Amino acid sequence: MKKNQTCSPILVIGAGAVGSTFIKKANLLPSIFPSIHLASRSVDKCIALSKQCTSIHIVPHQLDADNSNDVLRIIEKSKASLVVNLALPYQDLTIMDACIRAKVNYLDTANYEPKDEAKFCYEWQWDLHQSFVKNNILALLGCGFDPGVTNIFCKYAEKHLFDVIDTIDILDCNGGDHGHPFATNFNPEINIREITQNGKYYSNNKWTETKPMEISQVFDFPEIGKRNAYLMYHEELQSLVKNINGLKEIRFWMTFSDEYLNHLKVLQNVGLTSIKPISFKGKSIVPLEFLKTCLPDPSSLSENYSGKTCIGCLISGTKNGIKKKVFIYNTCSHEESHKELSSQAVSYTTAIPALIGSALIARGVWSGTGTLNVEEMDPDPFMEELPIMGLPWKIKNY
Ligand code: NDP
Repeated sequence: MKKNQTCSPILVIGAGAVGSTFIKKANLLPSIFPSIHLASRSVDKCIALSKQCTSIHIVPHQLDADNSNDVLRIIEKSKASLVVNLALPYQDLTIMDACIRAKVNYLDTANYEPKDEAKFCYEWQWDLHQSFVKNNILALLGCGFDPGVTNIFCKYAEKHLFDVIDTIDILDCNGGDHGHPFATNFNPEINIREITQNGKYYSNNKWTETKPMEISQVFDFPEIGKRNAYLMYHEELQSLVKNINGLKEIRFWMTFSDEYLNHLKVLQNVGLTSIKPISFKGKSIVPLEFLKTCLPDPSSLSENYSGKTCIGCLISGTKNGIKKKVFIYNTCSHEESHKELSSQAVSYTTAIPALIGSALIARGVWSGTGTLNVEEMDPDPFMEELPIMGLPWKIKNY
């Protein structure tokens, strides 16, 4: 962070892969948040992190974030002015409800998801816009990498590089190898729900649905090389269609190895990726929740993780009457992330943007009221902070 301005305490909810990375990075930069309240379902994880942090003061709390009253209780106890939600998308609405009642700002990295249906849409959160406006508070939605940095790359391009943007392809490549036959890089339940849903893209004023993994294309990723990427639906498509003027087409692509897809196919075929409850030994269980307990914890993957991620936006449009195309992107090394924070690059690239967004809100650089997506903020201060905080970005002309 550039300016040496200390911020008032914040409350971070969730001490998993992303939450712990956020805390460890904040500990390296004690002038931003010298004191953080950390609340999660398993208080042991919060206590363990508080012991690791030697430069900042961590106050651990046990919390059931599915219960809005419990969230309110911890907000009041912490006297936080900002709640950073790094728990799961299932908890977004209960946490937002508590923020409205306590009149404090809110930030997250993933849209609300009901447990029983994979939807990946912002409607539920956007419906709370007036409640946030009335209480003069801000809910900043989607401040991870994708959504998050990708949205800000698009806004930066609109502000500085184009008069009109025609098309955006968001490209997400993990060119790393963690050595496990099958593991997900963030919460397995959320990750598998996202990947197994139908694909969807926006073109010429209409949305088109595709079967999962139906469409693929080879992209040449900087510092990684050629990889097969699959068209998927991702929540930032919904907000960017609304917030980028004149956009004609937007698609989201993610790379998967053949080995990953083969494992996923088998797990799907035997029903283990389903979110419909089944009866097991007289109890109702959700197969995907059971599968999650069998898979490696994403926060445990960083040791021996080699390779890099490359995530960016391939954007075409017009500037001064001339057609142009650029790729704005970041590459992040798993080894370097592990060296710095004992985290893998997917947690790193999610947590650092959340930390930057939190600091910009806490310092009043980013402000506003209502539920706003990150691309509705000025992209410049965020783009300035990215390289300083460990996520340099580049622009490649095509
Ligand atoms: P993890 O499963 O590793 O961590 C989630 C944490 O939330 C755990 O500590 C968990 O507690 C806690 N938690 C879950 N339910 C509750 C509850 N009811 N009350 C309190 N705490 C709870 O997930 P990740 O860290 O991988 O992901 C965190 C978030 O980041 C997710 O929403 C994910 O979708 C998002 N994400 C966003 C990305 C982006 O680029 N925008 C990329 C990657 C992730 P416990 O330890 O007890 O299980």
